[in-house]
Amino acid sequence: MRESDVIIVGAGAAGLSLAHHLTIPDPVLTGTDALGGREAPRVTLVEAPEGPLRSPERTWCFWEDGRGEFEDAVVRSWERLRVRGPDGTVWESRPHPWRYKMIRSKGFEALVDARLAASPLVNRVTATVDVVRNVDDGVHVLATAPDGRRLNLGARWAYDSRPLRRLPPARTTLLQHFRGWFVRTGARHRPFDVDVACLMDFRTPQPAHGLSFGYLLPLGPDRALVEYTEFSAAPLSTKAYEAALHHYTGSVLGLGPLDVYATEQGVIPMTDARFPRKIGDRVFRIGTAGGATRPATGYTFAAVQRQSRGIAAAYRSGAVPEPPPPHSVRSRAMDAVMLRALDSGRVDGADFFAGLFGRVPMERLLRFLDGRTSVREDLTIGFRTPVLPMLRSVADLAFRGLREAPR
Ligand SMILES: Cc1cc2nc3c(=O)[nH]c(=O)nc-3n(C[C@H](O)[C@H](O)[C@H](O)COP(=O)(O)OP(=O)(O)OC[C@H]3O[C@@H](n4cnc5c(N)ncnc54)[C@H](O)[C@@H]3O)c2cc1C
Repeated sequence: MRESDVIIVGAGAAGLSLAHHLTIPDPVLTGTDALGGREAPRVTLVEAPEGPLRSPERTWCFWEDGRGEFEDAVVRSWERLRVRGPDGTVWESRPHPWRYKMIRSKGFEALVDARLAASPLVNRVTATVDVVRNVDDGVHVLATAPDGRRLNLGARWAYDSRPLRRLPPARTTLLQHFRGWFVRTGARHRPFDVDVACLMDFRTPQPAHGLSFGYLLPLGPDRALVEYTEFSAAPLSTKAYEAALHHYTGSVLGLGPLDVYATEQGVIPMTDARFPRKIGDRVFRIGTAGGATRPATGYTFAAVQRQSRGIAAAYRSGAVPEPPPPHSVRSRAMDAVMLRALDSGRVDGADFFAGLFGRVPMERLLRFLDGRTSVREDLTIGFRTPVLPMLRSVADLAFRGLREAPR
């Protein structure tokens, strides 16, 4: 029996966003039916129970022009962005019309859940999905409920956001790995400029391979999220991240005694691998598992929104509701060259990124990272990078085969 039109596996960034875009009227659409003309689908959203499969709470940042659909979940936003070079040089700009926004995953879930709860179209199921498979004219999803019951769900289409067990083979695979502290300095010491987010501060000691930087999001004059991040081959131990954070907050930022009231840690793939989005006639992958993570930066949230809108628009038009490519071929090609140059050591990572922010207007870089720049603008960005090492990396890529990602 078919209980719904669409099954979404996983209620993280991608699953919740897709459920939202498929069933909540789109404010941009006009006409009599704000859902776009075609009847909206009945959606079953399956999320793993609390436990090891559930993704831990996290912070999602992205840039946006004006008020967005998830504005009520935005906990903080910044008008000005800063990058600091290894020698302390500061580049700061107000990339009008963009604001850099922060959402906590729990807040996002609460907002979207409240909206979905008001829709008769959405059924939320808590279960561990074991199998997602195509059948003749639809899909079957086999899952296990928390009480051990086996569930057999049917639909016309399935979207799977479960994290992949292993990254696909690639010419270059790096990891963006980090640990962050939510800190308080005490009411008498107010060191943070609440209007400025620092995206990259390269005054951290640089690793032998890849690069490292500090990331600082002020949450108040005496509160901030401070992260230590590396782009390199393997994550560090928690002890090593802690030491790096002590050094960054103490010796580099000079913050003095701190109260660390929460932490966040993560690993995001940076790879030129191809992530298949179609894994059956009616089964698709979405989110990080479907390649939504931008290889050069790890940013995913904005691409997930674009992709969810694309799927919803295809569904409403009656076309096959396949996820559109999250990033253009050109963006992926440029990212592949950058990753190769970084991994091979042909460019110095800290100088490379600091130089890019120093030479390209921030507003253009943000549009570039969203895939909204023209070919000409992309070429000018390419010419602001160390051209010879980049050309050597292009040649290297041409002869480099795919390699299994490290475990
Ligand atoms: C700590 C951290 C911070 C990040 N910060 C940013 C940021 O600032 N900006 C940005 O753009 N990107 C950021 N990212 C990258 C990316 O946006 C996130 O990883 C994002 O959560 C990816 O969304 P997703 O839906 O693909 O995966 P997830 O959000 O991880 O969702 C996958 C879902 O699948 C569920 N699941 C897993 N297995 C099963 C199963 N067997 N059955 C049922 N459900 C299952 C999980 O419970 C989870 O809810 C960050 C990543 C991390 C780890």
